[in-house]
Amino acid sequence: MRGMGIYYKADTLVYLDGAFLKAKEARLDLFSQTLHYGLGVFEGIRAYETAEGPRLFRPRDHFNRLMETAEKSFLPLAISYEAFEEACMYLLKANKLTNAYIRPLIFGGSNMRLSASNQSHLFIGAWEWGRLLGNKSLKLTFSSIRRPDPRAFYLNGKVTGQYANAVMVTTQAQRKGFDEGIQLDAMGHVAQASGANLFVEKDEVIYTPELGHIFPGITRDTIIKLARELGVQVIEKKISPEEIMAADGIFLTGTATEVSPVKQVDGYKMKIPWEETLGYTLSQKFFHLVKREDKGSTTLI
Ligand code: PMP
Repeated sequence: MRGMGIYYKADTLVYLDGAFLKAKEARLDLFSQTLHYGLGVFEGIRAYETAEGPRLFRPRDHFNRLMETAEKSFLPLAISYEAFEEACMYLLKANKLTNAYIRPLIFGGSNMRLSASNQSHLFIGAWEWGRLLGNKSLKLTFSSIRRPDPRAFYLNGKVTGQYANAVMVTTQAQRKGFDEGIQLDAMGHVAQASGANLFVEKDEVIYTPELGHIFPGITRDTIIKLARELGVQVIEKKISPEEIMAADGIFLTGTATEVSPVKQVDGYKMKIPWEETLGYTLSQKFFHLVKREDKGSTTLI
């Protein structure tokens, strides 16, 4: 039971196909197509403690992305949003979690052929999880491993097999003494970090890679909307590696990563201290929003 301790304890409950059962007793069929060929679909949703109790952040958007990616991956699943949300909230309550990370995973049945499985299963787990890359300013390095080409893979959702690429990027960066890698896309433009989107600040304008080759992050979308509400200019465009090496500030966004500042990319150090950047102001807005301390942006929650 390798996950025991970090992800679950002896009495932790998980959701599996409509039932709640103990994590340590839940089983995966070892002939599941997902395990062998990487065709599965997952999501990552955070719950935050708020004055009204624990609340999921933008759960409908996560649910819609999960369902759409399941369709695209030939793993359709019949569950309503209401039943899904109820299962997530029950897991929080039963496992006494408030600030938590929720992981739904749709996986296929036993099938060693290359045609999609005709069974889809839904697992949901939840655990307390700190910020993915830690509460610190990050050191990034350009990765030699590119993002997959969108013509070769479905990149707009979390298909499990794509994360072989992500794990290689992060592991390679960490073995070189960095926290995370920056990936270029198939065309050589800056794409993102392995599991988080990337923003660049220069002369009081915020830039971020345009959609197409990147993952369309919900946190990315939240930051863009918060910036526009504040009157901060955000430009979505193609970004070159040279622009990274001239940035005033850089930050990463993602559900697990939240908003994490970057202090260095290879030998280049950011020009402006994090606390003086627009990125910092936006990160403060973000944390108020997810905890519902700021009702200004009710369209996002
Ligand atoms: N990029 C990748 C590859 C991801 O898997 C994720 C989600 N962890 C993100 C970016 C950030 O997306 P979101 O803000 O929707 O969590």
